[in-house]
Amino acid sequence: MMSASLSLPHKLIPTSESNSLSMKTHHLFPLLETKFTEVKQLQQVHAQMTVTGLIKHTGALAKFISSLSNFGNLAYAMVVCTYVDHPKVVAWNTIIRASLVQNLPKMAIMVYLNMIHESITYPDNYTFPSLLKASAQLMEFTTGKALHGQTVKFGLNLDLYIETTLIKMYTDFGDLYSAEKLFGRMGAKNSIAWTTLITGYAQKGYAKDALLLFSEMELQGYEPDEVTMATVLSACAELKDIEFGQKIHHYIKNRDLKVCTVLGTCLVDMYAKCGRIDESRNMFDEMPQRNVVSWSAMILGYVQNNQCFEALRLFKKMVSESVRPNEVTMIAVLLACAQAGDLNSGTWVHAYIDKNQINLTVNLQNSLIDMYSKCGSVDLAHHIFENMKAKDLVSWNAMISGLAHHGLVKEALNAFSSMQEQGIKPDNITFIGVLTACSHGGLVKMGWQKFKEMREKHKISPKIEHYGCMVDLLGRAGFLVEAMELIDKMPMEPNGAVWGALLGACRVHNNLELGELAAKRLLEIEPQNDANYVLLSNIYAGFTRWEDVKLIRKMMHERGVRKIPGCSIIEIEGFVHEFLVGDKSHPESESIEPMLNYVMERLKLEGYVAERSQVLLNLDEEEKESSLYWHSEKLALCFGLIKTKKGDPIRILKNLRVCGDCHTAFKLVSRVFKRDIIIRDRSRFHHFRDGSCSCRDFW
Ligand code: ZN
Ligand code: ZN
Repeated sequence: MMSASLSLPHKLIPTSESNSLSMKTHHLFPLLETKFTEVKQLQQVHAQMTVTGLIKHTGALAKFISSLSNFGNLAYAMVVCTYVDHPKVVAWNTIIRASLVQNLPKMAIMVYLNMIHESITYPDNYTFPSLLKASAQLMEFTTGKALHGQTVKFGLNLDLYIETTLIKMYTDFGDLYSAEKLFGRMGAKNSIAWTTLITGYAQKGYAKDALLLFSEMELQGYEPDEVTMATVLSACAELKDIEFGQKIHHYIKNRDLKVCTVLGTCLVDMYAKCGRIDESRNMFDEMPQRNVVSWSAMILGYVQNNQCFEALRLFKKMVSESVRPNEVTMIAVLLACAQAGDLNSGTWVHAYIDKNQINLTVNLQNSLIDMYSKCGSVDLAHHIFENMKAKDLVSWNAMISGLAHHGLVKEALNAFSSMQEQGIKPDNITFIGVLTACSHGGLVKMGWQKFKEMREKHKISPKIEHYGCMVDLLGRAGFLVEAMELIDKMPMEPNGAVWGALLGACRVHNNLELGELAAKRLLEIEPQNDANYVLLSNIYAGFTRWEDVKLIRKMMHERGVRKIPGCSIIEIEGFVHEFLVGDKSHPESESIEPMLNYVMERLKLEGYVAERSQVLLNLDEEEKESSLYWHSEKLALCFGLIKTKKGDPIRILKNLRVCGDCHTAFKLVSRVFKRDIIIRDRSRFHHFRDGSCSCRDFW
């Protein structure tokens, strides 16, 4: 009997007394396995345990107490503990742990205070780890520090396990200094202690220090485990440090470490974040086992690398392999739809969420709002928003920004007021939306007022994006000098977006001097961005300065900048149709051409005259030949007119800015053909309806 039980771990070794008892009472053990539903059952078991002496059996007692706690009767459990004479600490530790399992961290601390205040028993090395976790859950740093004091008081602070838990507690509270100090003082360290500190640094945003610490760990000869590797890989991902990441990958290969699902997923994520999407996919394909986290990481990886269609394809594969997606997956997929501007896929994903009863969390609903407004359907975005039971700051921000980008100025500003009425404090992202709305509405005075309100009332110091919005606002309204003055006064270096806003304004308001200045700065900051050359050349053309137009063309040639060919996409019944400028390769090109001629004739009757200056925009010789008629968006529009029902909206995605001529034409088409036309171009949405556009002719 005795010899058999010797192999049991220390705390489960029963005393000879309880051992002999267990022979008589072993029939009670199955009873302890049952799930209690009534207090009466508990009381009966308790009585039997007391009578038989089973209460003195450590294992049985622990089981009983945890059943009690699981049943939710911690108070009863404490009473039981008080009357146990042997060994009390195990019983109390059980209640503390059970409180934590039941998500009652405050209870765990109270149980501990009860235990020591009544001097019932002394804590041991199993007591503190749960308590330290409880303090972290409660986010009470003072409690954590007091517990640290207690470990010293009871002479347990030199226990390796407790020391490691203390380090974790300090890093959880962001006190990396104390964590490191404790770590430095540790007598004997092990890999777990190292990993705990490394993870702490990585999680608190000190990825670089985490990597340094890892190198140190390696140097001192400690063996990292899978957890260490996973943490280090996340740090590499955050720093986009592909060299270090690859080093870790080699390390894993060389040591023949098993690439578990977690580690494999970290590798997928690291390669994707470092922009090595192909290596990321190889890693993903090689993984022997994948879970929903791996799939989500790969899908998000595609989104981060601007490969939204690949992301959507992978999601469809995931579904076909019957892997159930979770909230994170769906958020990544919705991001892909938003990036693609693909309303059909977005609607399909939304239906998928409903059909598969994926929990519609606030985050997921926020993603739906963002997706619908970026796919050109602000009405559906608003519908989701209105039906949300609980809205958070992100929901309001997404809605305000969506309304603003669709030119629904009044609605955006009303939302801003309602948000504050409901006690939600705006942040800097809210103000980007608000200023964008003012800009779209030409509300200069209101814009200045909100810009001031942001700083003075809400104590948010403006970032470069806010200055960009203000320059855009002033520029659109024709206050070019004021816009330039604001740029001069900015506390930071203006970026491409700021100069771009000014340049766009100069083009519309025909200001050669400021336009030239803005363009020159832009060409310095973004020498490879073809759109800037086109804009400047357009301004020169407007002033008939053909020599300068030639010069710009030469400059592009010398710098190897190629004008990206214009390309428009329209989706009809789930199929994507792509049109290039002058494109006659579409299988239905024969029916598109007559439609195009018909549309143009109709528009001429309405007084449409082609904007000849736009032809000069096209810097490539071959492109110059193709007339304005053949711009890709016009081809897509005509195809849409043929393929969709009367009155249906037409949605087009364009990779470049819509040109002025197409813009004029589309406004007329929306009136003459009674169609809503929604174009998402390189910089914004154009929602054409009844002869006008939401951008108010400014883009
Ligand atoms: Zn055009
Ligand atoms: Zn427009």
